[in-house]
Amino acid sequence: MENIELKRFWEKVKEELIGMLPENVHPWIYPLEVSGYDKGVLTLVTGQMMGRDLLRKSHSKQMNDVLVKISGNPDSRIVIIYDESAAKTLKKENDKLLKKASEAMYKEKAIENLTNMQSAANLNLKYKFENFVVGDNNKFAHAAALSVAKCPATKYNPLFIYGKSGLGKTHLMQAIGHYTIFNNPKLKVKYTKTEDYVNDFISNSRNSKDTIENMSKFNKKYTNIDIILIDDIQFIESKTKTMAQIQHTFDTLYNKNKQIVITSDRLPKDIPTLTAALCSRFEMGLMVELTLPDFETRLAIIKKLADDSDLKYEQAALEYIAENFVNNIRELEGAYTKASAYAEITEQDLTLKLAKEVLKCKDCNTNITFDKITRITSNYYNIDIDDIKGNPKGQKVSTARHIAIYLCRELTKKSFVNIAEYFNKKHTTIMFAHEKIKNELKINKDISTAIREIKQALKVF
Ligand code: ADP
Ligand code: MG
Repeated sequence: MENIELKRFWEKVKEELIGMLPENVHPWIYPLEVSGYDKGVLTLVTGQMMGRDLLRKSHSKQMNDVLVKISGNPDSRIVIIYDESAAKTLKKENDKLLKKASEAMYKEKAIENLTNMQSAANLNLKYKFENFVVGDNNKFAHAAALSVAKCPATKYNPLFIYGKSGLGKTHLMQAIGHYTIFNNPKLKVKYTKTEDYVNDFISNSRNSKDTIENMSKFNKKYTNIDIILIDDIQFIESKTKTMAQIQHTFDTLYNKNKQIVITSDRLPKDIPTLTAALCSRFEMGLMVELTLPDFETRLAIIKKLADDSDLKYEQAALEYIAENFVNNIRELEGAYTKASAYAEITEQDLTLKLAKEVLKCKDCNTNITFDKITRITSNYYNIDIDDIKGNPKGQKVSTARHIAIYLCRELTKKSFVNIAEYFNKKHTTIMFAHEKIKNELKINKDISTAIREIKQALKVF
């Protein structure tokens, strides 16, 4: 039977089955897919193991009768097969439905009280914990944010989240807001960009006959809440009045034991406009940093986007994007969005070839070679390039060698064997060095600074 003919034939059988079988069985019938009709045997595939067993056990006679009636062949019968990949597709669809349902429920909950409805309107629905991929670069910040969301104003107050642009600060901060609105709707949450706060203050404090009233409204708006989320504090103005005002907001909330969460692209002490008084207040609680995600995390982030959509993709296409957009998650997502939009519009799958064509990133990292990495690393440590590649021991040269190995792996994605050849070492030695730096990076500031600066010198970012 031709494919189309087969599909039509099955549709007919299905219609008849639905008409005849009890309603509680219908959910097992709808997902059945036809895979063939040969010598009177109609093969159906399902991703529901329970569906298969139930239909086989209790309804096979009725189903066979329907088939005999429609096909006119007295020997024909139905065989149902369970298929794991069909199960996966089904799970994906179910997940999507669940997500939609939870979003609808979320909106309903948000409407429960006016303040939260307003703050919900200020939050981006995408920026929830559920959509935040946890990796080595953000797991500490994520844990802190989750802890604040679960028990506001108990442990980490204020929570100060800092890191370069596009690394997830706003996402994580808003996730706290969403979590609270959903799980704790009695609490009032307010999200504000520093800029908006400042503008609001300026327009209300302007001299007029209503200044006192306006300022009282302003103060109420920012202090009559349980959780305040202030985004991008580095944009604070140095004007004395503004500083005094934000300090007043901070102190009022803090003294009422309300949660304060702040983000910034740098540490408080590195914000030149900040007064010492505010700086020490911001440093009082917990400061957590978001750093650059590694390859696995970058891949997981775009894989999540791809899996949440209907797009069919090649794993290699996602790997290509994750390899080439290393500086900033916003750019990484942008690249994925561009490639996937192109695939969708032209009705193709997102293949490696297509990703390369659309993004033309000329393998942004391919001009980074083992040679370049070792050269820059040896310059950085002021040691001889032959020593890095050779065997001399000693703390400094070993550290430099391990860092060069680590960067060769991270930035070129070449195999350990390739790198081992280059350094003329065993590949287990290379793996060991890579692992060692990967772990040190999390706890040793000198190592993380060195890596960041060497990467900068390599113009990776
Ligand atoms: P920042 O505020 O630090 O500049 P954002 O929070 O705006 O960065 O993040 C930039 C983009 O990257 C957003 O679309 C955000 O959803 C996404 N993003 C950042 N970190 C993650 C993560 N860990 N998992 C999933 N998406 C992320
Ligand atoms: Mg931001």
